Amino acid sequence: MAKVGIIRCRQTEDLCGGTSDFAFAAKGKGAFEPFGACEVVGFVSCGGCPGKRAVARAQMLKDRGAEVVVLASCITLGTPLGFPCPHKDLMLAAIRRKLGDAVPVLDYTHPAPKK
Ligand code: SF4
Repeated sequence: MAKVGIIRCRQTEDLCGGTSDFAFAAKGKGAFEPFGACEVVGFVSCGGCPGKRAVARAQMLKDRGAEVVVLASCITLGTPLGFPCPHKDLMLAAIRRKLGDAVPVLDYTHPAPKK
């Protein structure tokens, strides 16, 4: 079972408990599908705008056993507000540079719910 660490948007912490992230990881659905059922070993926020602290937090998740790091859908797809992070591309690129090829960095957790 792959061990995953999830990074979420700090701005939406008080709107969302991350329930769908955990459910999709446990079932190996959404972005987790290539890895099958996954164990969430860490669930942290980006640290707040503009997201620079997410890079060190991704490294921390890796150091604590995450084999895959995932930016949650609140960051890249904008769930649940329909408001993606304006810094998502920079954040994703910086985290990928930091972690290298050994740790895949996924760019969402689950599809946005249909309205
Ligand atoms: S940097 Fe992006 S992901 Fe982090 S709190 Fe701000 S809007 Fe949310």
